[in-house]
Formats: sequence, structure tokens, C-alpha cells
Amino acid sequence: MRVFADLGWFFRAHWVRYAVGIILLFLVEVLQLIPPWLIGQVVNRFVTRHYTVTYLWRVLAVILLAQLLSYALRYGWRLMLYGGSLELASELRRRLYRHFTELSPVFYQQHRIGDLMAHSTNDVQAVQETAGDGVLTLADSVLTAAVVVATMATRINGFLTLVALLPLPVMAYVVTRYGHWLHDRFIKAQAAFSDLNDRVQEIISGIRVVRAFGQETWEKHEFRDLSEQVMVKNIAVSQIDALFDPTVSVIVGLSYFLALAVGGWMVIHRTLNIGQLTTFTLYLGELIWPMMAFGFLFNIVERGRASYERIQRLLTEKPAIHDRPGAVDTLAPGPIHYGIPTFSYPGADHPVLQDVTLDIPAGAFVGILGRTGSGKSTLLRLLLREFDLTAGDITIAGTSIYQVTLRALRAQLAYVPQDHVIFSATVRDNIAFGYPQASLDEIVRVSRLAEIDEDIRRFPEGYDTLVGERGVTLSGGQQQRLSIARALLRPAAILVLDDALSAVDVQTEARILENLRHATQDRTLLLATHRVKAVEGADWVIVLDDGRVVESGSPSTLLARASLFSKMWQRQQLVGVTKGEDAPW
Ligand code: ATP
Ligand code: MG
Repeated sequence: MRVFADLGWFFRAHWVRYAVGIILLFLVEVLQLIPPWLIGQVVNRFVTRHYTVTYLWRVLAVILLAQLLSYALRYGWRLMLYGGSLELASELRRRLYRHFTELSPVFYQQHRIGDLMAHSTNDVQAVQETAGDGVLTLADSVLTAAVVVATMATRINGFLTLVALLPLPVMAYVVTRYGHWLHDRFIKAQAAFSDLNDRVQEIISGIRVVRAFGQETWEKHEFRDLSEQVMVKNIAVSQIDALFDPTVSVIVGLSYFLALAVGGWMVIHRTLNIGQLTTFTLYLGELIWPMMAFGFLFNIVERGRASYERIQRLLTEKPAIHDRPGAVDTLAPGPIHYGIPTFSYPGADHPVLQDVTLDIPAGAFVGILGRTGSGKSTLLRLLLREFDLTAGDITIAGTSIYQVTLRALRAQLAYVPQDHVIFSATVRDNIAFGYPQASLDEIVRVSRLAEIDEDIRRFPEGYDTLVGERGVTLSGGQQQRLSIARALLRPAAILVLDDALSAVDVQTEARILENLRHATQDRTLLLATHRVKAVEGADWVIVLDDGRVVESGSPSTLLARASLFSKMWQRQQLVGVTKGEDAPW
């Protein structure tokens, strides 16, 4: 039941709704006492032959009225309580979503997408049921039981009530045990479902590769296994689930048996009349539902608790990257300084960068060249604070990037990541993603700079064409150029391109870089690439190898001497590296 305490914050915030719901519920319970009582009265009058037809009609009318009224009241409390649970679900989803957007790449490296999806669907659903059906069943069963038992004990016979309810503690015990088993099995079922979710997500997003490699059959087998696991685990849950009803029936049956045995004996000895016994057994019947409900309740609440715990655990996960205390919300553009003695990724022991000291003047075009795995992306991602340094510092205009807020830092940066993301939206919305207030003219202007405008005009609906999963599929080069247009639209002082032109041909690349140089003269441009050609026009080139800066200088000075750079230049000239593939180092 702890989950109700855990959800206290929500119930407190919506107390009016819950109070009204529970009051209505209470009224229903009181109304439900009337028919059995009247029936008992009628039975007594039949026995003593003291009745008139008008009397019977009146009783019938009252019973009907009570039922009609409780119909309306029941509708009222359902609306109240279920409405509350929907609000809770939406609030939890909102919190999870907000939290997901705040968490850093490390988190997404450590968690599986399938798990996160399960949290935001299944777990939220389970908690929603706790706040809806759970609260309802709890209030309903406790209120019904209390009202009915009190009436039985005080208005009919205390001793008889005690005897008839003797089996109850047994039931409470058994049902609690079931609840614990259910909890364990439910957690396993949820975990299996997560595995399945994860696999489905992976297979669907990688379906082209799966097909191309002819792995459909294998995938089908693996999927069948996972799906079977989900079934097996859920059957284990329902095996316990299925125990609730029979258990409750047996115990209720026992109660009836005791009530009739002892009640009948009392009637024979005239300490109870027939009408009272009738009313008593009818009341006992009204207790069946609360007892069953208790079973459901355990079930629902156990699930809700497991799910709420998982959601809470996620929500308390601290973003690894956050604003430091006292961070300032403004950052002036200016030269960038890197001073990194050493950097390793969290959890990795091997340093990825070592002794990197760089000074990048404002407005410069700096090429970062290096073979795959040399640390180019890492260098750029550190500037963006996707990961934090553990030693050394990076400054912009003399201010450490750790002394400003993430918002202020990222406002100065326009970033084209190596693995670009295209959303299922129109071309226009995709480009305006980081700067939604942009006009169409501005969007067209940056698209021209990124050499994607002509491609877009050939799409069926131009800038309004849907792309991504629900629309036109873009080629790798188109995706890259669209990502560049997106970044160019942001009025940021530093433009960061991480291997952003690897999928376009050398000529287009050269044109785009030329455009960038003209249009963004006052912006600093950091460009990571394998291709020497791409950095020919740079003011300064840094050559990274195995996490160290092995050479740096202007392209012309590097070319003039026998440098790694000039060797690479010659080789790439010879092979004529054009598209995509790695440079021959
Ligand atoms: P490429 O040209 O292939 O893009 P790169 O020069 O950009 O390569 P990085 O992505 O910076 O290279 O990677 C440098 C090293 O850091 C690699 O050895 C890589 O395995 C490691 N690395 C990259 N990202 C992570 C991460 N998130 N966690 C742990 N290690 C990582
Ligand atoms: Mg990279």
C-alpha cells in the first residue's frame, strides 16, 4: 500500500476531486444498505401475515429509487476517480519526457531504448491503474466493508457477525501472500517485455540491414524466443492472478455456511427472526465484492508499486551534465582555448585525448584532420559539453564553458553532428528545428548555402514535403546538407561541423565550404574531417592522431614541409578520394 503514500503529492494536489469521489462512494454504500433491510422487513411481515399491497408497492418504490440514485452517484465517482488517474498519467509522462530531454549522452549509452519506452508506456499505465482502479477499489472495499459490517453488528447481531466473518483474517493473509508472489513475477514479466520492445525497436529501425544480410529467419527465431519469454512470464503472472477468485469464493462460501448454521440455530432458539437472517445473508452477499476487490487491489497496487519504483528511479537519475552552481546565463563570443591534459570517456580507462592545447581565434576556419578514432568528434563534443572534462578547461573569450549555463553555451554553438537526425516533419520544419521563428526566405537562403535548395525544389511539395519516416527518404548526402542548413540558420558565433560532408562529392563539398566562408565570415568554423581537401581553405589545420595533436599550422606551411599533412595530401590526390570512404592513411 506504500504506493498510495508515494503518490500522496498527487492526491494532495487533487484532493477536491478525490474527496468528492469518496463522499459519493460513501453515499452509494449507505444507499446499498436499504434494499436488504427492506427485504428483511417484508419477509417478517409475510411470516406474521401483517402486510398490505400498498405496503409492498411502497417498498418496491423505495428500492427502485435507491437503485436509481446510486446509479447516478456511481457514475459521478467513476468520473472523479478515473479522471484523476488520467491526469496522473499525463503528469508522469510529462515528467519523464522532460527528464529524458535533460539527460546526457552517457545516460542513453547506459539505458536501452526499449526499456525507456516500456517505462513511458507500460509503467505509466500501471501507475494510472493504481490511481484509478486502485484508489477506487480501496475506497470502495474499505467503505463497503466498514458500513456493511457495522450495520450487521449493531443492527442485527454482533455475535453472528463475528462468527460469519471469522474466515476473513485467513483471506487477508492468503491474499497478501499472493500479492508478494505476484509482485516478483510481474517484475520479471515487465523485464521480458522490455527485452522484446528493445528488439522490435532495433529490428524495425535496422530492417534494411536485416534483409540485406538475409537474417530474417534468424531474427524471426530470436523474436519468437523473446515473444515466448513474454508469454511464459505473463502466464506465471496469471497463474497467481487466477488464484484470487477461487480463494475468495471458498472463503465467502465458508462465511455463508457459518452464517446459516449459527443464524439458523439462533432463529430456532428465537434470538433472531427470519427477516433479520434474510437481511444478514443479503448483507454478507454485499461483502463478496469488497473481498474480491481486495484481491484485485493487491494485484493492481503491487503492479503500480513496481512500476512507480521504476519511474521514480529514472526520474531521480541525475543528468551527468548540468549547470554548475553560480553559472552565468550569458556568454560573449570570442576565441576558443582548449587546455586538456587528458580525457577519458566515463567508465573507460584508456584516455581518448592527451595534451591537447589549442587556441582558436574568433572568426577562424579551423580544420581538424585525423584518421577514424583519432578523437575528432570527442574534441568537438567536449566543446558542446556533451561530456565534461575531468581535468583541464575549455574557455570561450576567456570564460570557462563550465562557468556558464548550458543554455548560454549552446546558444553560441551551431552543431552538425556526425550522425544527423532527420525528424518526421516537413523539410521546412526540419531546417527550422533549432530556430523555429525563421522566415521562409531565411530558410531558403541557408538551404542555398548548404547546396540543398535545388534538391528540395525537386521534391513533390518543395519545402513542405514530408521527410523522414513518414515521407520522402533522403539520401545520406541530402541528410547531411539538410543538417548543415539547420545549423546555419541558428545565429550562433561558432559553427561546428563534425564530418558533416563525408557523403557529398568533393566538388559539392568545396562549393559548400566556399559558401560557408563567404556567408559566415565573422563566425568561427570548426570542421572535423578525414579529407585533406576539405581543409585546404582553412586558416589553420590541426592533425590529430591517437588523441594527440601531432601537427598544426596553416595548410600552406604544412604542405611546404615534409609533414604528415603533405603526405596525406599527396596520397589523397593520387587515389582521388571522392565519396565517403576513409582516407588512405
Ligand atoms: P571518426 O573519424 O570515425 O568519426 P573520431 O576521430 O571522431 O573518429 P572519436 O569519435 O572522437 O573519433 O573517438 C575517439 C575514441 O573514443 C575512439 O577510440 C572511440 O572508441 C572512443 N569513444 C568515442 N565515443 C565514446 C563513448 N561515448 N564512450 C567511450 N568511448 C568512446
Ligand atoms: Mg567522429
